[in-house]
Amino acid sequence: MTERKDIRGMTLEELKEDIGPMGLPSFRAGQIYSWLHQKYVSEFSEMTNLSKDLRAALEERYVIYDTVIVDKRVSAVDGTVKYLYELSDGHLVETVLMKYKYGWSICVSSQIGCDMGCRFCASTLDGCARDLRASEMLAQVYTAMKDIGERVSHLVLMGMGEPLLNYDEVLRFLDILTGEDGTDLSARHVSLSTCGIVPRIYDLMELRPQFTLSVSLHAPNDEIRSQIMPVNRRWGVEELLQACRDYIAATNRRISFEYAMMSGINDSDACAEELASRLKGMLCHVNLIPANEVRENDYVRSSAERLKAFSDILEKNGITTTVRRTLGPDIEASCGQLRRNHTKEATER
Ligand code: SAH
Repeated sequence: MTERKDIRGMTLEELKEDIGPMGLPSFRAGQIYSWLHQKYVSEFSEMTNLSKDLRAALEERYVIYDTVIVDKRVSAVDGTVKYLYELSDGHLVETVLMKYKYGWSICVSSQIGCDMGCRFCASTLDGCARDLRASEMLAQVYTAMKDIGERVSHLVLMGMGEPLLNYDEVLRFLDILTGEDGTDLSARHVSLSTCGIVPRIYDLMELRPQFTLSVSLHAPNDEIRSQIMPVNRRWGVEELLQACRDYIAATNRRISFEYAMMSGINDSDACAEELASRLKGMLCHVNLIPANEVRENDYVRSSAERLKAFSDILEKNGITTTVRRTLGPDIEASCGQLRRNHTKEATER
């Protein structure tokens, strides 16, 4: 049998074209697309307005890549839900649902693991096994929505992986998810987070995307940033910030800088002053994150007082700053921990 095509990763236009040779009218593509992207079915047999023969023909030609829930934890503290999904080839990925006043926000993974090596992050410890397909990113969202029986209104690409190293599939995923023939999620409610792959930031600005670009900065200078983020040795702080300024000029969109506060590493008043002077005048926003302490490293989260002092210095310099709420403290909700623990338990068994 020839390899079956990934039907959930096709846009409606592509699907119309692709079913042409099957002798089907193009409205059939609309029906199939709606089953996949509005009713979220994962089996052709569930497409009940199609004949049995047609379903069998589709089954022969296409595959629906799905994610199956193998573990689910719900925080008793704030309702955060963390899923561990299994993909069709047995790999595991994490997806988190966070409850906000405005609705559910979902945190999606773009790769299985990560190669970037950020010292504070648990997702990168085993490297990157492979990129995720657009269809597998869609499945993360669809499986969660089916499970809770509600729509998700916001999305952040802040799970495992570096989205800009899986550029084409990530853009395809967002294109399908925000399309009006699919889930029709508002692109304005999407954030894509990168550790700073500078050439891809330049590619992205050409597209003038509607979503928000978040940049994981975490340090005000090369000395500190190169220690905690190896990617900085390739593209340093000034080169990255210049790309951000160019991005803002090209898109007229505000950039969000992520800054994980680690005690004694990047959280001094001097760091805040230096950060403020570098970001001054930029259309941006700083999101301070109390670092999550993970078992695999020794970084310690900054105190609430330190966060406040740091934030005050930025604000005093005219830089809009927020401190991120910590969610799901009781369910290992952050950064690759659930998957690692599962993999570890499995090898220890
Ligand atoms: N690779 C992308 C997106 C994935 S990580 C990026 O680097 O932006 C999502 C965010 O969580 C990033 O800002 C990352 O730096 C941050 N992060 C990773 N480990 C963390 C930890 N232990 N505490 C706080 N933030 C962390």
